[in-house]
Amino acid sequence: MLSEHPDTVAVHAGRLEIPANTASSPPLFQASSYEFADLADVEAIYQGERRGAIYGRYGGPNTAQFERAIAELEGAEAAVGAAAGVAAINAALATNLRAGDTVLAGRELYGGTYSLLENDYRTRGVDVAYVDQQDLRAVAAALQQARPKVLYLEALTNPLMRVPDLAALAQLGHEAGAVVVVDATFATPILLRPLDLGVDLVAHSVGKYIGGHGDVGAGVLAGRAGLVGRARALLVRTGAMLPHFEAWLALRGLRTLALRMARHSSNAVAVASFLASSPHVRRVHHPSRPSHPEHELAKRLYSRGTGGIVAFDLTDARAVDPFLHGLERIAIVHSLGEVATTISYPAVGSHRSLPQEQRLSLGVSDATLRISVGIEDPEDIRRDLAGALAGLDAERSA
Ligand code: PLP
Repeated sequence: MLSEHPDTVAVHAGRLEIPANTASSPPLFQASSYEFADLADVEAIYQGERRGAIYGRYGGPNTAQFERAIAELEGAEAAVGAAAGVAAINAALATNLRAGDTVLAGRELYGGTYSLLENDYRTRGVDVAYVDQQDLRAVAAALQQARPKVLYLEALTNPLMRVPDLAALAQLGHEAGAVVVVDATFATPILLRPLDLGVDLVAHSVGKYIGGHGDVGAGVLAGRAGLVGRARALLVRTGAMLPHFEAWLALRGLRTLALRMARHSSNAVAVASFLASSPHVRRVHHPSRPSHPEHELAKRLYSRGTGGIVAFDLTDARAVDPFLHGLERIAIVHSLGEVATTISYPAVGSHRSLPQEQRLSLGVSDATLRISVGIEDPEDIRRDLAGALAGLDAERSA
């Protein structure tokens, strides 16, 4: 070896040596570029004949590892990671829609998806139509009328936890020639596998339950190899692939997802039952309640529970602020699916951009609150809620 100048040694010394035996937990490959042995190697790696990484924006080993795990969990041919849930959703939409096409979406849509459709699709000549995804007749009629290229659904709606009949919807969508896409963020692949029900593509905001600890921004899309391949190409072109460290964190979250979803689900049932017993609560929106419109369907579709989201309406919208002030441990957070119990007020959070009448027509009132029930001891969650509700009594009698 030539003796080199210290400036050169600093640049090249200490080459990576990967141990010959496998690491028992995933190492983080933060590299954004990879070396090729020669031009034949370049060709072999680009053609996929030899396993190798090319460049950070194309994804690296951690992204690929997370994608393989999600594909396996979803029962999908392929999965692709994305920089955010909306990037995954956008990839599903953009690769199946052109100007002049129609997308038919469930009307109780996550605000960011609604905003994407209105700002980036409608303005570019895609016709955007909405339908009540719980009303199969209305969906069938809208499909016949609009002949959409994409039927876009959510597996559990925000915040009211409505449960669509995905198998029936997928069938209707296919009869009309649409690609059926489902956002299953609230459900996760532990509670539901939409592809088994006939859906074509399933998307997740990974920063919610899959990441689980409030420290990841990521998304993922799974489905048939052809559809996912086109989405991957778009994500690479637009620089919206899942970065290495986020992929590493997401996989770490995934390892405990099943345990967490079981606890989120059982804690949410307990919270829903407690809230239903309070005179300050007009209505609890949770599939475990017999009053929930899809109580029976949820039992059939979600045999392992429905996760941690519980919405409820206080009897008086003026009590929202004092109630939130009365909570000691539960924080106001505009996200969900974390290990800690958090709360949000949809009127100023997820549904902020909707005109009031539109929000009210969806059943999200000025008195509706959404809890993302965490994995703490259920009695401690109950006590915090009970304290805040008791504070309303004191307020009333003051
Ligand atoms: N889908 C649902 C149901 C969500 O709740 C969210 C975010 O809150 C998203 C998609 C978007 O995910 P991200 O923020 O990762 O882009």
